[in-house]
Formats: sequence, structure tokens, C-alpha cells
Amino acid sequence: MKKFMTAGGMKRRVLIVDDEMINRELLGAMLSQSYEISFAADGQEAMDALMQPDTDYSLILLDLMMPVMNGFEVIERCRADEALRQIPIIVMTSEKSAEVRSIRMGAADFITKPYDMPEVILARCERIIELSEGESIIRSTERDKVSGLYTRGYFFAYLKQMLPRLDTQADAIVMNIDRFHLINELFGREEGDRVLSYCGELISEMLSSTRGIACRSESDTFFIFCERQEDYEHTAEQMQEKLAEFARSRSLRLRAGVYSCEMGSDEPEAWFSRAKSACDRIRGQYGSLTTRYNNELYERTVFHERLIGDIQDAIDGRQFVVYYQPKYRIQGDRPVLSSAEALIRWIHPELGFISPGEFIPLFEQNGLIRRVDHYVWREAAAQIGRWRDRFGRIIPVSVNVSRVDIFDPELENKLCAILDEFKLSPDDMMLEITESAYADNGDRLIEVVNSLRNRGFKIEMDDFGSGYSSLNMLTEIPIDVLKLDMKFIRRMLIDDKSLRLVELVMDIAGYLEVPVVAEGVEEEKQLNTLRNMGCDLVQGYYFSPPLPAQRFEELIKKECEC
Ligand code: C2E
Ligand code: MG
Ligand code: MG
Repeated sequence: MKKFMTAGGMKRRVLIVDDEMINRELLGAMLSQSYEISFAADGQEAMDALMQPDTDYSLILLDLMMPVMNGFEVIERCRADEALRQIPIIVMTSEKSAEVRSIRMGAADFITKPYDMPEVILARCERIIELSEGESIIRSTERDKVSGLYTRGYFFAYLKQMLPRLDTQADAIVMNIDRFHLINELFGREEGDRVLSYCGELISEMLSSTRGIACRSESDTFFIFCERQEDYEHTAEQMQEKLAEFARSRSLRLRAGVYSCEMGSDEPEAWFSRAKSACDRIRGQYGSLTTRYNNELYERTVFHERLIGDIQDAIDGRQFVVYYQPKYRIQGDRPVLSSAEALIRWIHPELGFISPGEFIPLFEQNGLIRRVDHYVWREAAAQIGRWRDRFGRIIPVSVNVSRVDIFDPELENKLCAILDEFKLSPDDMMLEITESAYADNGDRLIEVVNSLRNRGFKIEMDDFGSGYSSLNMLTEIPIDVLKLDMKFIRRMLIDDKSLRLVELVMDIAGYLEVPVVAEGVEEEKQLNTLRNMGCDLVQGYYFSPPLPAQRFEELIKKECEC
């Protein structure tokens, strides 16, 4: 059966065009086991079927003598159309002269009436499809090998071609699988490909009831263009259910962003980029699997574009200001200021205060974060130097190293150059790397961390427990400090499970001889609980919010008086 299938595991579609019902039925019966069959009773009906947005025929079986529009005209029209030209045509006739004429016009083969040998007819269809698929360069790049859907290039070419003929409202959908990388990491690439191929099948299945086309845009991102539907939530839930079962992984999660296309407004690529921002908005969230792009998102996109455009001015004009949040050692008789974390703020001349939660993820998406981080590292290093000179002691400052910096081959050299510039040692400026960077590329992270530690840098694992990494990671990455994610601290006194998890992390950290920093401590009760568990360091509003350098100095002075 496999040879009759498309790469996506779907049956190929064949259009049978004949005005005589008996002929249609005869041919249909011969081919329907192997192909998905559609029928048309004359040339006009055939053209209508071929012009549907979901036309994906592999072959046309065409009678020549028909009312309304005859077979010759169908051949002529198909040849004149860029997309339809790719579909091979077999003409069905009882006249020799008609055979010759149709082949001259571009038909691929002919079958003579009356039809007597089903095996011969099936073999001819098969051969012609094979030939046409093997022959055409367009067809060779038409399908994405992994998912069986169109390739991105073909998808947009095809979409643009069918837009002028589109007679319904349509949606652009971007679909993505959260945590897909886990499949590759846990079960290998082959299994990853199998899951992607299954996604292709699910999407093709969806398109069998809605007119539309789809492609795999990149890794686990799919684009779908289809007739508008009120709501996709139910469809997405069903797909999600099947996918989780197929992949035997409950942690996989489908999400889709939908954009209602406005014909003639923008290029189709812009529709999909809006659908993608809608899709990104629900990344990692529980609740709805789908969301539609709306005005609020539009304004967000415009806002984000503005931030991206303003970044260089912000660096040059020193609009980025580094705040410092103290970390206190809590195991002695009284809490002692031990170090600080450098946290960036953007004081924009027109937009005012912008929190890092707003622009850091944005700049991580486009790599601009590297410039921002470099700026923060230099500012922090300069500050450590100034405090050393003023107070005669080093207040170590941790800086955040984005997941994107991990891929910078110059990372280590840049950091070392900054230390040299301000005459600091690697002990003075610690590096916070978020746990979720491990999920991006564990091997690379281990390599970078090892190399940085060899140069003497101290590595703090930030947001520990927030991501999807396993405890196993702790044995693979040598770290110097573990920063427990704020969420646990917040829930610790409310639910017992979180409390026990915090205890467990303390135990493991103790076993590995790695000190723990608890982030986001706001209340005395939390502080006491943590102290009793043996937690070493605490950072949070209980002691102080992040402060501008000048105000942080007051804390240092207070400490010096003690
Ligand atoms: P993070 O590195 O985990 O930083 C801790 C965040 O928790 C900070 O948020 C801090 O203000 C906040 N926080 C501290 N104590 C408390 C508390 O008691 N309660 C509550 N509710 N929050 C507390 P902030 O400054 O908004 O930064 C958010 C995130 O942005 C940071 O999380 C970090 O991932 C990122 N970030 C900040 N500055 C930089 C930077 O210079 N470079 C990079 N790459 N990322 C940065
Ligand atoms: Mg941090
Ligand atoms: Mg953190």
C-alpha cells in the first residue's frame, strides 16, 4: 500500500473526469483501494475541483468528449496554470486521432476505452504518478521529508498563487509543540522525526475536513492556511490528546496562534508572523491551547519593535541602569550582607520605566541580549571596583548570563577582558546561568561551564526547579551555588509538597556541598523556615528590593558599622 501514499502517509488523490456515470464508477472501483478518488462530470466541474484551495491531486483521468467543457479545454487550462501544470493527465479515449492530439497538448498518457484490464490501468496510473513526481524539480522540494507536509518555500509560493481564486475568509495558523526538544534528548532524533511525522498526519487529517494547506516551517513549527473557523480549541485538544498518546509523553503540549487574514492587506508572510506572536504568547502556559491575534497583541508587537529600534540609543545614552539586590548570609547570629545580584532596568526617556521581564525575553529572541549583557557586566564590574576603592572590601556581584550568551564563542574572552579592565578576579564577579539554558543545549552548557570554572569563575544555577531539567543535571554540571526558584519559596508555607521539595533540594545541595540561595523571600516566617533547614543565603524583599548603586551603598555602610 505504501507506494500509493504521500510522504505524509496519506493516500494520493486522483480526479476522475467523465460525463458517463458508468465510466466514473468503473474507474473509481478499480482505483479506490489505492487512491483517494474525486469525481467530476464535465470539464467545468473538473476545473472547479482543481481550483479549490486544497487541490492536491496527483493525477487527473480525463475523458475527452464531454458537454459544457471538453477534455481538450481542460488540458489547455491546466497547462496554462503554474500549479495545475504539475499534475499529470491521462486521457481516456476510443479514438486514435484524439490520443495523438491530447499527447501533443501535454497529456502524459492515454487509456483506451472500453476499460477491460484493471491491473493495466492501475499500473499506468502508478507509473505516471511516479514519473511526474520523480521528474519535477518543484515536486522534489515540494514536500518536507520529515512531516510529509509542504516545505515552507513551496507553501508560500502555492499560497500566493491560490489567493486570487480564494472565495472564503481564511486563517493563518502557527502551531508549535512545547518541550519537543525533550523527545530528541530523551529518545533520540529518530523518535523526534517520528513524532514530527505524526504531527504532519494530524494536520493533514484536520485539513481533510477543512479546506487548506500546511507546511513545516522549521523544527517543530507548522504553518496552516485554511478556511476560517470560529474556534480551533476543540480540534487542538483532540490533536494534543493523540499526540501525547503517540509520543508517550504527557509533557508535550501543542499550542497554536491564529491570525484572521485580511485579503489584500499584507504579504502572507506577515500574517504568519502575527500568528506566531499569538502562538508565542501562550508558550509554556496552561489553559487554552489556541489563541487569536488581536489588537492588544498588535500593540505589543509595535511596542516590541520600538524597543528593538531603541536599543542602541539606550546603550549609548546610558538609559540602562543597573540595580543591586543584596544577598544575606543567614546562618550566623545576625544576617550578614554577603554579595549582590546585578539586575538591569531601562529608564526610557519617553516610555519611562521598563522592567526586564518585558525586554529580556524579547532581546533573547533576537540575540540583542548579548549587547545588553555586555553592558551590564561592564557596569557591574566598574561598580565592584568603585566599592572596593571606597570601602576597602570586595562586595561580590553576580551578573546574569543569558542562555543566548552560552552560544557566544567569545563569552569567556569578553568576561576576562572586563575583569582585566577593572582589575578584578573571577571570584569578585559571579555568573548566574538560568537552569532552563540546560534544556536548550545541555552539552554546550556543560562545556561552557567547565571552561569558565577552569578560568576561576563561580557559577550560580539560577531559577533552579523552575524548568524541566532533571535533578540529574546537578551531577552533570559542576556548579558553585544553587539559586532556588522563587515559586517554591512562595508556596512553601502554603502547600506541603513545596515545603518537602525545598527540603529535598537542601539535602541534595548539602550532599553535593553546594550552598543554596533562596530567592524571593518576603516574610520572616519564610526566612526562619529556611534557616532551620540549613539554607545559607537569602535574597528577597524581606531584606531589600533591588536598589540603585547609591542606595545600595547605605547597606554596605551599615554593614561596616556592625
Ligand atoms: P532573576 O535573575 O531570577 O532575578 C530575580 C528577580 O526576582 C528580579 O526580578 C528581582 O527583582 C525579583 N525579586 C527579588 N526578590 C523578590 C521578592 O522578594 N519578591 C518578588 N516578587 N520578586 C523578587 P527582575 O529584576 O524583574 O528581573 C527579572 C529577570 O530578568 C531576572 O530574573 C533575570 O532572569 C532577568 N534579568 C535581569 N537583569 C538581567 C540582565 O542584566 N541580563 C540578563 N540576561 N537577564 C537579566
Ligand atoms: Mg538571576
Ligand atoms: Mg532567579
